[in-house]
Amino acid sequence: MHDILPKDEKYWKPMYKTISDLAEHFQFSRIETPILEEVGVFVRGIGKGTDVVDKEMYVFEDKDTTKVAMRPEMTAAVVRAYIMHGFWNMPQPTKLWYWGPMFRHDRPQAGRYRQFHQIGFENFGSNDPSVDAELILVAFDFFKDLGLPVEIKINSIGTLAERANYKNELVNYYRSKRSYLCEECRQRITKNPMRLLDCKETGCQTVKEEAPQIINWLGAESKNHFMKVLEYLDVLEIPYQLDHTLVRGLNYYTNTVFEIYTTDEQEGSQSALGGGGRYDLLVEEMGGRPTPAAGLAIGLERVVLALKQYNEKNNREMPKVPTDAYVAQLGEEARRVTMKIINQLRGVGIKIAFNFFKTSLKNQMELADGLKAPFTVIIGQKEVQDSTAIIRDMESGIQEIVDQKKLVTVLKRKLGRFDDKR
Ligand code: AMP
Repeated sequence: MHDILPKDEKYWKPMYKTISDLAEHFQFSRIETPILEEVGVFVRGIGKGTDVVDKEMYVFEDKDTTKVAMRPEMTAAVVRAYIMHGFWNMPQPTKLWYWGPMFRHDRPQAGRYRQFHQIGFENFGSNDPSVDAELILVAFDFFKDLGLPVEIKINSIGTLAERANYKNELVNYYRSKRSYLCEECRQRITKNPMRLLDCKETGCQTVKEEAPQIINWLGAESKNHFMKVLEYLDVLEIPYQLDHTLVRGLNYYTNTVFEIYTTDEQEGSQSALGGGGRYDLLVEEMGGRPTPAAGLAIGLERVVLALKQYNEKNNREMPKVPTDAYVAQLGEEARRVTMKIINQLRGVGIKIAFNFFKTSLKNQMELADGLKAPFTVIIGQKEVQDSTAIIRDMESGIQEIVDQKKLVTVLKRKLGRFDDKR
């Protein structure tokens, strides 16, 4: 588990802004669910045999002996909420988004934490391929707005019936290659054969490459759905790669599955920034009415790591919120006036900076320079007495004395980005 430090705020803040803008644009409403849920929500939702449920979940007994889990992901919890609050009575599709900490007792390594943050989008009530494409578009736009180049890896894992037939073939194939497999894959043959395709061990790669491909087991409807999703991605000019080994770690997926990777060549093992897919059976499995649905989740710590590497290599900085004006004060009385002025300026949306610990004008001008503030407002003894303020243009050095009452109006005009009617 880790602290998120102020030095990284420049990454977290734009992520939050981007995601909330996207949610508004694509009409997703925010949902928050508790960190603790009754353990069954995740066991039923994610499924036994998955790493998340079998190995990584924080589970303990509450004081009343209820077995609770700290959420390892949110889709199962959102589905629980969808059913519990009768969301199907709302106009469909129901579109929800979330942001919050998740907990997995994972093996710690770069980009892998035991408490990490995910954002996610879920869409309930439609099995139209446009829903899958829209989710991928939201993810793609999230990275585009942050300035990180990404591509999508995509596959279809079909319906349950199609997958069952495929699994038989896969198990037969892997049994014949048993001697080449790592210990974990040998166990997966009986425990969770789809995860055989997910193995990262070098020894298992050749076996994996030659494994039967699920696409050949898909029926006409599943194939058609998949083709339509791809057509939408073509129209949207979203770069994607078909990947027949992509199955995702959670059991609830049907048909479309996808993951998002940066196309920037990064150090260390390249892991997915996010992923998602369709889960048409999950609502019913968890006790609701049959409701097709699809969703995606993005791991924010991974995004920060990827952005840091990308920015460093490309000499790029995260865009900063610019400071409009630095407000400098000289003396006790000036500080009192300044306190009022900074609040007035904030009230009209002028972004200001100040520091009451600095008492010399020189120090404060240095701070203003460092922030690249275009203007400094100076309040000294004389300005307190005359009810005036000095506005200094930091580039030209030209100073203007204005009445304190007119300060807001004059500064707004000088900044030139305010609608006069405000
Ligand atoms: P999943 O819910 O397993 O599909 O994961 C979705 C995304 O969450 C991944 O692509 C990662 O970006 C992120 N993620 C999953 N597990 C961790 C972890 N232990 N630490 C940091 N990020 C994680």
